[in-house]
Amino acid sequence: MSEPTRTVCPYCGVGCGLEVLPPAQPGKAVHRDGQGTPIWQARGDRAHPSSQGMVCVKGATVTESLYKDRLLYPMLRESLDQPFRRVSWDEALNHIANRIQSLRARGSIDAFCMYGSGQFNTEDYYVAQKLVKGCLGTNNFDANSRLCMSSAVSGYLQSFGSDGPPCCYDDLELTDCAFLIGTNTAECHPIIFNRLRKHHKQNKHVKLVVVDPRTTPTAEAADLHLAIKPGTDIDLFNGIAHLLMRWGWLDAPFIDDCTSGFSAYADVIQHYPPDVVVRRCGITVEALEKAARLWGESKRVLSMWSMGLNQSSEGTAKVRTLINLHLMTGNIGKPGAGPFSLTGQPNAMGGREAGGLSHLLPGYRLVKNPQHRAEVEQFWGLPTGQIAAVPGRTAWEMITGLEQGAVEMLWIAATNPVVSMPDLERTKAALRQSPFTVYQEAYYPTETSAFAHLLLPAAQWSEAPGTMTNSERRVTLSPQFRTPPGEARPDWVIFQKWGNG
Ligand code: SF4
Repeated sequence: MSEPTRTVCPYCGVGCGLEVLPPAQPGKAVHRDGQGTPIWQARGDRAHPSSQGMVCVKGATVTESLYKDRLLYPMLRESLDQPFRRVSWDEALNHIANRIQSLRARGSIDAFCMYGSGQFNTEDYYVAQKLVKGCLGTNNFDANSRLCMSSAVSGYLQSFGSDGPPCCYDDLELTDCAFLIGTNTAECHPIIFNRLRKHHKQNKHVKLVVVDPRTTPTAEAADLHLAIKPGTDIDLFNGIAHLLMRWGWLDAPFIDDCTSGFSAYADVIQHYPPDVVVRRCGITVEALEKAARLWGESKRVLSMWSMGLNQSSEGTAKVRTLINLHLMTGNIGKPGAGPFSLTGQPNAMGGREAGGLSHLLPGYRLVKNPQHRAEVEQFWGLPTGQIAAVPGRTAWEMITGLEQGAVEMLWIAATNPVVSMPDLERTKAALRQSPFTVYQEAYYPTETSAFAHLLLPAAQWSEAPGTMTNSERRVTLSPQFRTPPGEARPDWVIFQKWGNG
């Protein structure tokens, strides 16, 4: 048997390690999919520390999606009602260059936007930042992580000054009490849930609390399920804080040494007595007290959340309120404890590291910080002041910019906004108004390709080398082991060739 290639699953933020084997193995029948196409085989990598050999059905069948409906060549059309015609890479990239030059000549580079993806490798993200924020001088790069992770990013930044989740998967087996909030981990992050559930089952003192309006498979495994009314998370967290203060279950030395503004926080918490909180949340006083007792009595509390907190008009405040509970009880900076944001996409975390949102620069730096801009300009060999001092358009501001005629060129890569954006009819109407949309994608057709003027074929996972960073910030190499179909190129190569052209 030939040696397997070790890589990472490209589907979700758990970041499981995979081993892949070619379709033909000595002495065995060729491995084929349901249509008879020979396909690579995937299995869990026992040596990968994040997943320890475990893999869910998506990871186990990942190779089946590599062969179907691929975009093979650049294709161009002048308007959306015309058919696409195949063009060369040179013609495609020159077309983009002419459009950009015309914007620059008019001093309108801010009419250019790029919308990327948590499916990028970190290297794709990084080269895109250098091209857009460095060379073009606009911060109009945002990613679909904006739709899921930006509340966690802002919550961490505002509470800690840095967007680096202070937890790792080993904490799953070291915690005394896990709060899963707004996350159906059993179905959405199954390998994380498997690790936590095993620890929970094997250790009687370990408790599992689930906060979710829905009764999910995750909630069914909980010792306490708080089915709060949607949107009342802040009331619940502050209600728990109120009881912890009333009972004196605080970590005073930690508060004195490591936090600021505690007395102002305590004033706010006074407004969340149990009778008010249970009425707003739709739970019983007994349930609220049990949650507070579990938090207060446990030596190591780990909280985990995903879209239930993040996808909210007050998502950042929800994340900060949860973090406050950790700070007031010293449940951070020690094994088995801390506020742990679970990322949805495989490389949303790599995007954060590479500065892949419109207010970020690489290395957890901020566009608004003059020293951060100067450091990046110096590293990239750019003149002082080349990086714009104001954050660029967010994903939704790109859509509203199209509506207003302020965005004249939109470059979408590795994401399908006509499916994933909020308010889809409005999104489609805005895309119909776009003067020029480039769509860089591995697959064709997609819902978004119907709104594109220029299609650029991108290489897929397994066809381009790169790295991905999972929820616990573990970086895994994702090597190339197949040849891209047709004329598809890695995303970063497309950016680099266009930038050099
Ligand atoms: S849990 Fe996520 S990363 Fe792991 S195999 Fe499943 S889809 Fe892939």
